[in-house]
Amino acid sequence: MKIVVDRARCTGLGICESFAPEVFEVDDNGDLVLSSETVPDGLESEVEQAVTGCPTEALRLEQ
Ligand code: SF4
Repeated sequence: MKIVVDRARCTGLGICESFAPEVFEVDDNGDLVLSSETVPDGLESEVEQAVTGCPTEALRLEQ
């Protein structure tokens, strides 16, 4: 599955990073950096928690 970020909605709070730091990282400028464009094997649950935990609904998954 592909991870899609709506950059206009992302405020760089890093909630997603707290759920799945292997995939999401907020850099020093407050910009979200993805280490992978797709959900890595074994991290499906963590990434789904990050998507649902994002307070601005900036994340979604696409088949
Ligand atoms: S939790 Fe949402 S708003 Fe916060 S950094 Fe992640 S994608 Fe952006």
